[in-house]
Amino acid sequence: KNLKKYFPLKTSMFSKNKQVVKAVDDVSFHIYKGETFGLVGESGCGKSTLGRTLNRLYDPTGGEILFDGKNIANLTSKELQPYRKRMQMIFQDPYSSLNPYMNVEEIIDEPLEIHTSLSKNERREVIIDMLEKVGLKKGDLEKFPHEFSGGQRQRIGIARALSINPDFILCDEAISALDVSIQAQVINMLEDLQSEMNLTYLFVAHDLSMVRHISDRIGVMYLGKIVEISKSEELYDKPLHPYTKALLSAIPIPDPIKAQNSKREIITGELPSPIEMDTGCRFRSRCPFAKPICAEVDPQLRKVDGEHLVACHLY
Ligand code: SF4
Ligand code: MG
Repeated sequence: KNLKKYFPLKTSMFSKNKQVVKAVDDVSFHIYKGETFGLVGESGCGKSTLGRTLNRLYDPTGGEILFDGKNIANLTSKELQPYRKRMQMIFQDPYSSLNPYMNVEEIIDEPLEIHTSLSKNERREVIIDMLEKVGLKKGDLEKFPHEFSGGQRQRIGIARALSINPDFILCDEAISALDVSIQAQVINMLEDLQSEMNLTYLFVAHDLSMVRHISDRIGVMYLGKIVEISKSEELYDKPLHPYTKALLSAIPIPDPIKAQNSKREIITGELPSPIEMDTGCRFRSRCPFAKPICAEVDPQLRKVDGEHLVACHLY
C-alpha cells in the first residue's frame, strides 16, 4: 500500500539537493493467497526492487506491506523472524546463488537449521523428500553445485527455498537464465509444487511471454510505477496501457508470414532517467498518444472493468 523504495545517490559535497532514485514510487496492489502474480517490465523499472522490498530484503522508504493483514514494513529483524520463514526467494542465477563449497545436503539444510527445531536426522528426511519433489535423487546429497546442469541447479535452489514450507515465494527471473526447453519443465514443476504446498508466487520477469502461462494476474511496471494490472489472458487479448501494448508487440512472432502482416508498435524514445521524475505520466516521452494533460497530471491506477486496472489518461 503506497509502497516506496528510494535509493540515495552519492552527490558532490557542494550540491544542495540530495538526489534519489525512486525505484518504487507509491505502488499499491494486492496478491491473492494461492495465486501467481506476474510482475513484468524492462530492466531498471523497479520490479526486482519491489519484490525484494515486499520480502523485506530492503527496508521500504514509505508505505505498508500487509502480509496476512499484518503490516510488516517497519518490523525489526527480530520481529520479522517468523515472517522470514514464510517468505522465501528463488533467484535468477543458480550458479551464483548456491555456495560452491557446500554439498546439496548442506545447501538445503541451511534454512532448515535456522528456521526449524528439527534434529539432524529429521532434517535429512525433509531434505530427501524435498529432493524427490524437485526431481533429484537421494544420491545427489553429497554432490556439489558444479556437478549439476543449470536446470538441476535451479531445482536445488527451489528445494532450498521450499524445504521450510513457506507460504510466499518471490521468483526473481527464476527461469530466465535457463534454456527454453528447461524453462517449461521448471515452470511445470513450480505449478505442481504450488498446488501441492499451497504456495503463493510473485513471479518477476522482463519477458512477457515467460509469465503468460504461469500467471493468474499480471502487473506491468514502468519506472517505479505499476501502470496496468489484469488477469493474464485479458492482458494479452486486450492490453490497455500504451506501454503494455508496446511490450506485447516486442514479443517475437515465430511465424514469418504472420510477422510480416501483423502491425507492430515499436517503443520509440529513450528510457528516461528515474532520478529526475517531474510531473505527469512517466511514459509520455515514449508514448505515441501523449496529450497535454499527460505532461501535467500523473495518471493514477484505476479500475476500468472487473479486475482490469490501468494508469493512463486515455481511459
Ligand atoms: Fe500516454 Fe498519456 Fe497514457 Fe501516459 S497518460 S500512457 S502519456 S496517453
Ligand atoms: Mg531485476
